[in-house]
Amino acid sequence: MDSRLLAYAERQAPRYTSYPTAPHFSAQTGDSAAQEWLSELDRDASLSLYLHVPFCRQLCWYCGCNTYAARRDEPVLDFVDTLLAEIDLVSSFSSAKRVTEIHWGGGTPNILSPEQFKRIAERLAQRFDLSDLAAHAIELDPRYVDAAKAEAYAAAGVNRVSFGVQDLNERVQQAIGRVQPLDIVARAVEFVRQAGIDEINVDLMYGLPHQTVDDLRNSIRLAAGLNPNRVALFGYAHVPWFKKRQRLIPEASLPGAGERFEQAAAAQSELETLGYVAIGLDHFALPADELARAAASGALRRSFQGYVVQEADAIVGLGPSAISTLPQGYAQNAPEPGAWAQAILQGKLATVRGHALSADDRIRRRLIEQIMCDFEGDLAPLGGAAACADELAALTPMLSDGMVRIEGDKVQLSPEAQPFCRLVGMAFDAYAARGAARHSRAV
Ligand code: SF4
Repeated sequence: MDSRLLAYAERQAPRYTSYPTAPHFSAQTGDSAAQEWLSELDRDASLSLYLHVPFCRQLCWYCGCNTYAARRDEPVLDFVDTLLAEIDLVSSFSSAKRVTEIHWGGGTPNILSPEQFKRIAERLAQRFDLSDLAAHAIELDPRYVDAAKAEAYAAAGVNRVSFGVQDLNERVQQAIGRVQPLDIVARAVEFVRQAGIDEINVDLMYGLPHQTVDDLRNSIRLAAGLNPNRVALFGYAHVPWFKKRQRLIPEASLPGAGERFEQAAAAQSELETLGYVAIGLDHFALPADELARAAASGALRRSFQGYVVQEADAIVGLGPSAISTLPQGYAQNAPEPGAWAQAILQGKLATVRGHALSADDRIRRRLIEQIMCDFEGDLAPLGGAAACADELAALTPMLSDGMVRIEGDKVQLSPEAQPFCRLVGMAFDAYAARGAARHSRAV
């Protein structure tokens, strides 16, 4: 690999699913601020609901999510009761009821039984207006999908399913503590399609322990055989100082920065050969998919769910660790299920941290989002290129390499710079220099 590019690949940067990023949230934003922000939403504001199910039957070693192992059913039963109470509480604090998007994430949302899922979906329909619901998505672990669950999702109006696949080579699956042969994944996809849900996403990963370029190409070909509309290809983020379970993955088994870069490039070329269009940093979609069309028309957005098509006026997070994105700022629930439940059962929101957005935050947030989505950003709201001397100084190597150009008040990334868009975004991050937050590799 070109040593100039290797230097960029070895750097660390946030993924910018929010700005400021979650490590810069503070305890100054608590439940009373979140309640006030909810009460200030316009009656006709559109809402996106994010439901975080914080349990898995067993924990995968590579996982960076906020989730807990639930080998018994009791914690899940308690969670469902508390989530219903949280739905009641949140809806009572706001006159905004019009939901345009619902996203179930985790954890493993399909740890819920069909009855549990149905109870929650029915409560959402009772407390909110779902008549404008356009996108209803759920993340599924293929190992725990059956016909009854798939039918429950379809009956509730779910129209998109994301399967966590990561890699389909047994050696790599063993090394990440998640063994799920292709036939299990294929069967799960079949259950969902038979129930009538035909928008299928497959999530893959590069940078996994013992994974090679050939493994990745093989996984992509096998996954493409399932005919997904979208493929997400995430770089494994090894952050064992933050996620202790990742200590089960020896550092020496991981590909280096140069290999990761080659894997990402090989995966992109394989997916493009198979007919997928590259979108932003890590998504691929068939050309007719609305995500591909949004990217082509400059309408792509970025949120905690990654690249998205629509953006509701507010994202309301429900469940432990869920983050709400409200017009006034971010509000994050207590990550630990016990602390979250304790607050909800006392009739309070479970917000423990967040961030009230300043005018400067809003400008930088939009600029970084443009860089992550369109590989081009408008500096005019920051006062133009002349007012961005510090930010452009941070970009000096990329500017002198010709990877990034300033055209008038626009910052533009060359194709060579696009894999490093997180680093370009970081030059405009006013918090990056202040915090001691450690991030994953830039590629
Ligand atoms: S990767 Fe998915 S299934 Fe595995 S522990 Fe994390 S959330 Fe659970």
